[in-house]
Amino acid sequence: MGELTGFLPVFFEKYFSMLVEENPLFSECELVIDNVRGEALCDECHALYNVMKNEGKCPKCGSRNKTILGGQDFKVKNIGF
Ligand SMILES: [Zn+2]
Repeated sequence: MGELTGFLPVFFEKYFSMLVEENPLFSECELVIDNVRGEALCDECHALYNVMKNEGKCPKCGSRNKTILGGQDFKVKNIGF
């Protein structure tokens, strides 16, 4: 789950446990969240940094011009019994 999707894994886990409570069928399920890091490449100085950690700003030059490399995809890797 990408850090930049706006969903925090905590909320997703909460939703999943609600789902399990309502549907005993899911109680045997295992929730696996693949947490993709929100990495960006600075357009100004080409520094690689984590968007969440640095609040969207380049820690090196302070620029907000960036190319997002990952963390925008949302995927549930495995829901298995
Ligand atoms: Zn920079």
